[in-house]
Amino acid sequence: MHSLRPLRAEISLSALRHNYTLVKKRAPDSLAFAVVKANAYGHGLERVARALSDADGFATLELDSAIKLRELGLRAPILMLEGFFDEKELPYFSRHDLMPVVRDMEQINQLTAADLTRPLDVFLKFNTGMNRLGLQGGAVGFALNTAANHRNIDAVTLMTHFATADDKLGISAQLRRFEEITKSAAAIFKSKPKPFAQSLANSAAILRYPETHRDWVRPGIMLYGSSPFADKSAALLDLKPVMALRSEIIGVQALEPGDSVGYGATYVAQKKMRIGIVACGYADGYPRHAPGSNSQGTPINVGGKRTRTIGRVSMDMLAADITDMSHIHKGAPVTLWGEGLPADEVAAAAGTISYELFCGITARVPMVDVE
Ligand SMILES: *Cc1c(COP(=O)(O)O)cnc(C)c1O
Repeated sequence: MHSLRPLRAEISLSALRHNYTLVKKRAPDSLAFAVVKANAYGHGLERVARALSDADGFATLELDSAIKLRELGLRAPILMLEGFFDEKELPYFSRHDLMPVVRDMEQINQLTAADLTRPLDVFLKFNTGMNRLGLQGGAVGFALNTAANHRNIDAVTLMTHFATADDKLGISAQLRRFEEITKSAAAIFKSKPKPFAQSLANSAAILRYPETHRDWVRPGIMLYGSSPFADKSAALLDLKPVMALRSEIIGVQALEPGDSVGYGATYVAQKKMRIGIVACGYADGYPRHAPGSNSQGTPINVGGKRTRTIGRVSMDMLAADITDMSHIHKGAPVTLWGEGLPADEVAAAAGTISYELFCGITARVPMVDVE
């Protein structure tokens, strides 16, 4: 007997396909990797890959998830966003036709020293300002020359990743540095039979900076229906939420003025109230830092109507204010996020981003497909 605890994450495959189609509309001249790292941002790698089986390509991070995509029969290009972590992984890149990001001199040397059954298509990642990973300085020319000439390297794509495509700092400084690198590459590749491609844009850049679209775009969060921008809602961008986290009221309490709620007694009723106890807590991935104090709550939908959370989120439960909802009783449906209540809003209240909420859904939450 499996648990009948009324909590589940519903995954809308039609919303997912709508969002991928929107990427293609916004970047009509580019190919688009569906970014499916971290178990497809917590949505389930396999279902997302099947729903997007016509995608131009997939981008992931974990070698086992890339191999899984091949086992599912997907033949499209697969980009490994952080390349190989150890040269022992390289034979699997050849065998499964995976394209590594190459991001430092050591990796270039490992790749050229490897005994590969066939050459790899590589994405040379340049650090243009994010300052996490990427080739820079003297490594740039070395990498371009090696990539243009070495037998272990077939097609080459120049790549960078923006730190501030979603906010007012924008991309201009990083784009300028990338264009310098593109110029060097053009000079180096001029005498070569092979051209090179380019890939820059994440979701924010896809939506805000068409000049970054180039050959391949790399949408992640927008596929899952959230906005990459703090100041622009997903609905305004015509994105549809893919995940709906749903539960039920499993108990109701009547409060008298002065009664407190939950651990730490952080909420104290100032009047007669009714609260509904919801079967969802931080052990399910709901953020414990979602506020529920007297002065600030977190939005939650009960019985189709928006209200707020009350008190601290506990491991398995949280409370919602149903004082003005006399029709709400035990068994009433609850949406923690989903259509009508964007995960972005819950995340903002909890001081995080929807990326973290989605990735944080835990294994005990059943996931079900809906069309
Ligand atoms: C995760 C990732 C993306 C997708 O970013 P979103 O903001 O989710 O669109 C794109 N490129 C790289 C290199 C990434 O690691």
